[in-house]
Amino acid sequence: MTMSFTLPEELQLLQRNLRRYVDTEMIPHERDSMAGNELKPEFKARFEKGMKDLGVWMLDVPEEYGGAGLGLLAKSIVWTELGRTVSIPARGDHITGPSARGILYQLRGKMRERYLLPVLEGKKECCFAQTEPDAGSDPGSMRTTAVKDGDDYVINGVKRFITGAGKADFMQLMVATDRAKGSRGGISCFLVDMNTPGVKLGAQYETMMGDRPWEIILDNVRVPAHQMVGNEGEGFKLAQGWLGHGRVKHGARALGVAERALEMATSYSHQRATFGRPLADRQGIQWMLGDMFMNLDVGKLLVYRAASMIEEGQEARVEAYHAKYFCDEMAFKAIDNCMQVHGGIGLTTDLPIEKMWRQQRSYRITEGASEVMRTVIARHVMKTYG
Ligand SMILES: Cc1cc2nc3c(=O)[nH]c(=O)nc-3n(C[C@H](O)[C@H](O)[C@H](O)COP(=O)(O)OP(=O)(O)OC[C@H]3O[C@@H](n4cnc5c(N)ncnc54)[C@H](O)[C@@H]3O)c2cc1C
Repeated sequence: MTMSFTLPEELQLLQRNLRRYVDTEMIPHERDSMAGNELKPEFKARFEKGMKDLGVWMLDVPEEYGGAGLGLLAKSIVWTELGRTVSIPARGDHITGPSARGILYQLRGKMRERYLLPVLEGKKECCFAQTEPDAGSDPGSMRTTAVKDGDDYVINGVKRFITGAGKADFMQLMVATDRAKGSRGGISCFLVDMNTPGVKLGAQYETMMGDRPWEIILDNVRVPAHQMVGNEGEGFKLAQGWLGHGRVKHGARALGVAERALEMATSYSHQRATFGRPLADRQGIQWMLGDMFMNLDVGKLLVYRAASMIEEGQEARVEAYHAKYFCDEMAFKAIDNCMQVHGGIGLTTDLPIEKMWRQQRSYRITEGASEVMRTVIARHVMKTYG
């Protein structure tokens, strides 16, 4: 009775093919594929074709909806390999084709036709609006409210840092229907068209990663009750099933960053000589590289374990937290070390290191800050060992 620590052969093949494509078609264009934070149309078309040829187009979409329907382990391989390059934006504008937010698959009838299908056909875009000026890590304290009025709900509040709001046709909006209950049954989820009267785009923020999320102002926005997904107060519960999936995705993408950091740092340590010897000969550098390799290995085990468990339908909440928290922190340390090994040239925009550094730094805050991940893990420890 032994545990298997190798990927299935077909996934190894997928990994090799993707790596070849990223190395030959994407990495050489890291300095000319983007205009600001957007992928230039010619590169978008080219990379999308590449993904189709590799069989990972619409990888996230079940086969019954025309997607590749890949399992979570296979998707993790794809996210890792694409994570090795900054020739594509880290957030949004994805080259693997349309991908619907998990919650949209729960829609039925007219709602399904109005929201899910157009997203999968690439005709509509959706943004996710949860964060507020006074509620980020603690969404249970959100102040945006939806109050029942006849057959409608009337929504008032402000959302902040919403990625893609400027391009979105509709938003998945999280609101408080019972502020006293907070995240324990007081949050509901609505689908709201961006052109609904009372929805206004506010400030757009500049960030160090180039992302430009928006503020959304909701001023007496009247939404029919049937625009609610699930029942009142179920907003958080509905999202739960997909959260583990998202955390594994984070971990997987971070593995790509860490692996690229290791490749670049090791290669440069052979090229660069100081005081008459290559950096690679110095123990101080070797230990750094050794640690990066070992931590990358640990990260892979965590991501593959969480992905496999979720794919098999097992409960893997803590495992998914481990994958996100460990890998996002580990990859930041790896790219920071890579920058250190490169010295001054690592700080220039001639190399992709500074961009990877800025992006990876941001993932320790967005989509679940590291402290929040640690708090949940600690809660598990208290329950298990307390
Ligand atoms: C570029 C970008 C894109 C984004 N896109 C979206 C989006 O599309 N949709 C959306 O809804 N949101 C989005 N966000 C918001 C993002 O998810 C939040 O910024 C994030 O959840 C952190 O919330 P906050 O900024 O309010 O920080 P806070 O919650 O105020 O936290 C501040 C610091 O305190 C720490 N902290 C918080 N609570 C505790 C605790 N109990 N113990 C110890 N430390 C704690 C946090 O870890 C953090 O380091 C985006 C943000 C950015 C910057």
